[in-house]
Order: sequence, then C-alpha cells, then structure tokens
Amino acid sequence: MQPDAHTPSSIALAFDPRGESHVAPGFHPERPERLAAARRGVLDAAPTATAVALREPTLDELLRVHAAQHIERLERSLERGQGFIDGDTFFSPGSRAAAWGAAGAAISAIDALVDGHAQRAVLLARPPGHHATRDRAMGFCLLNNAAIAAAHARARGLARVAIVDWDVHHGNGTQDIFDRDPTVLFTSLHQWPLYPGTGRADEVGHDDGRGSVLNVPLPADSNGATYAAAFERIVLPIVEDFAPELIVISAGFDAHERDPLSSMRLASADYRWMAAQLARVADKLGHGRVLLALEGGYDLRAIEQSIAESVRGLQSPADARHPQGELARDSADALRVVTKVQRELWPVLR
Ligand SMILES: [Zn+2]
Repeated sequence: MQPDAHTPSSIALAFDPRGESHVAPGFHPERPERLAAARRGVLDAAPTATAVALREPTLDELLRVHAAQHIERLERSLERGQGFIDGDTFFSPGSRAAAWGAAGAAISAIDALVDGHAQRAVLLARPPGHHATRDRAMGFCLLNNAAIAAAHARARGLARVAIVDWDVHHGNGTQDIFDRDPTVLFTSLHQWPLYPGTGRADEVGHDDGRGSVLNVPLPADSNGATYAAAFERIVLPIVEDFAPELIVISAGFDAHERDPLSSMRLASADYRWMAAQLARVADKLGHGRVLLALEGGYDLRAIEQSIAESVRGLQSPADARHPQGELARDSADALRVVTKVQRELWPVLR
C-alpha cells in the first residue's frame, strides 16, 4: 500500500538548490556542503519524500517579521556582491537568491501543511535564520526562515504556533521577533554561555508576550538524558498546554557530540527522540502539523545522520528510543532554575 499523503510517514520536502550558491570567500563552517549532507539524510529516511512546489516570498511576507530598513539595508549589502555584514556573516553573489529562496521555501512548506498536502514537512534552507532579528543580519543568518514560516502560518489562519529551537545556540533573532506576541510560543534549548550571549532562563517575553518565551540554557557537556529531562519536565508540558496548531522545529544539529563549534553531547538518535516527542504532541492535538527547518550544525556526518533520525522520529513517533545516560548535577540544577521561573507563568508545571 502506498503511504497516504495525510499520514506522518509522508514527508514534504522544501528544498531550493540555490541555497548552495551562498558561499564564503574562504573556509567557513557554514558551507554549501551542509545542504547536500542534510538532503542525503532526509532522502535516506524518506526516499519517497514529495517535493514542495516553491515560490518566491513577497516583500509583505518578509515585512511580517523584519523591519523595512533591514530588508533595504540587506539588499544594498548584497548588491555589493561579496563581503561580510559582521565578523562571521558573509555574503556572495548567490546570497540574494539563496536567502530569498530559503524564505520562499519556508512559506511554501507552510502552504503544503496548511492546505493538507502533508502533516510533516522539512525545510532545507541556507543561509540559516534563527539569529536574524527584526532589524539585523547576524550569526551567519540573513533572513529568519523559521520566523517567516511561523508568521505565514498565522497569516494563513492558524491561531497559535510553537517554535522549538534545539540548535545549540540561542535563537535570539526568533525570540526578538516574537517577544511581544502571545500567539507564538518560542522555546530554545542551548549551551550556556555561548554565542550570542542571550537566552537566560529569566527572558520570558514582554508585555502581551510575557510567558510565550521559554529559554532552557544548559551547561556544556549536556547529554541526551539532559535534553530528555528538559523536554519531559518543561518543554513538552508547556508546548502541549499552549496547544499550537503547528510546531516549527528550528533544527540545528550543532549540539551533536561531533560538532566543532560547541561542547554538547547529543547522539544522532537523540534527535529522533526529540522530533518524535514533538510529533506526538502535534498528533495528540489532532492536526499532526510539524515543520522541521534546518538551522546550524557544522559536522557533515552528524548533520546527515541526525536529520535522518529526526525525519524517522517525525514519521513514526512511537518507535523512538529514550536517550540513555545520566543527568549531570549541573544540568539538573539548570533545569531547576528554568522550572522555577516558568512555574510562575505556566500552572501546568506546578
Ligand atoms: Zn547554532
């Protein structure tokens, strides 16, 4: 029997090959080969993944999350052809097509989910997006793809969207964009301290958005058991209570034990478990909608294996194995701090 398009086993893949045309002038960890590695991983887990029909984003769709001044300044920079926006955020002649293509693919993936063509979608985007704030490019990121996806889902009529950012770096850009928005829950698990230096447990959102930001800063060397405890004690209860009509995973794979830019200890299979838990929540809420969007991750083998495992987790949530290992004392302490802060905002944790 062919898998039906409306079952989790069917994956919609949003991939714009122009993402490979964004190239740093010298060696840079955020390199085009990452995209090919991620694509191999997705196709290994889901060989029959259906390609999402892509379109370009409109300016208005970008302005839902970015300031007009940011878009204008970015376009002016990109017209210069090759250079750096900050110490590590480069651009090349192909960057405009890559960045706008990634944003368009994010929007197209959301359309596929909202129109019911699939329940699970994967966005293979370069450059990544989660450090791009409302008004600036930074941290290898030009446009915030996950935020553009979430805002598009809201514009398409979904009442609430949860973004779960498991990239090892804090998703400061996404937090900045939705900090005052009660309809988008932003949660980030990240190594602390580490670039970009934000994401403390007491950053919980402002004004109407107070309580819609959930930061889980974790000490270096945190393992799968730590992430599992963070999920089970804090992240999953809050996400489920928030009852999003879509879950967007800002899926960096740089908390992997092989990653050269950080010091966490996740194994590839741990990503399968995390993806499975989020898929399980989406299924329990009755819609099953999950978008997994590539962010960072700088070891090619780790990216390929981890995204393959993540896709398997989305396809068959019941089959994922719980992460192994001990919860270190400093990790347990970090989780207690987060719980104490969030308990004031989320009675479900009491
Ligand atoms: Zn990262």
